[in-house]
Amino acid sequence: MGTFDPYKQQIVDTAQALTAMGYLMATGGNISVRIPGQNALAITPTNYDYMKMTPEDICVLAGDLRRLEGEHKPSVESSMHAAIYQRRPDVHAVVHTHQVYASALALIKAPIPPLFDEQVRFLGREVGIIPYALSGTGPLRDTIARHMANHHNAYLMQNHGALCLGHDLERAAHNVEILEKCSLAYLLALCSERKISKIPLPIREILFAKLREDQKRAEQNVLPAGGE
Ligand SMILES: [Zn+2]
Repeated sequence: MGTFDPYKQQIVDTAQALTAMGYLMATGGNISVRIPGQNALAITPTNYDYMKMTPEDICVLAGDLRRLEGEHKPSVESSMHAAIYQRRPDVHAVVHTHQVYASALALIKAPIPPLFDEQVRFLGREVGIIPYALSGTGPLRDTIARHMANHHNAYLMQNHGALCLGHDLERAAHNVEILEKCSLAYLLALCSERKISKIPLPIREILFAKLREDQKRAEQNVLPAGGE
């Protein structure tokens, strides 16, 4: 078994689970994980059906995006994923989807205010909008990198989709689900045209502080273990 095999398997399992739940469709979106202790990441190939994907199809890239393993062309968004890992040592998994309800909010450029405890605890103070830039380009990568400073774990990409981060892939995939639930509830509330209530500010800060604690713990895992 190769060194990277467990990471590849985890990506395939998560991609297929998210496809079955309707968050990923056909070949849209992409998933990556950081390879701990190394400046490398494993990522889904571009334009490849998730339900046909096997661990051998997953690409492993060095930090400079040089391909270390995998026969397919890696996701066109590889540079976006690499930029996130560089800016956010707490992030060990990135899931980019075109999930429908979050995408609808990305079309009307409506950031999601702090509506639910669970949302702030896992996604951040709000779910903000990352301005539009063309897929797979330097401008998109640079815009996304700039937005990482707020330590949030979910973002809406204008006229494109959603971006969810986590300290592991399981967490990032759960964040995809939380984001979609919040997006649908927020859209329905917006349709009512009535005043939308938010959670109280002190509660928001307590919950966000818990997320920051998780993130600080996750940052420790980036450093190679001593004596290895
Ligand atoms: Zn996309």
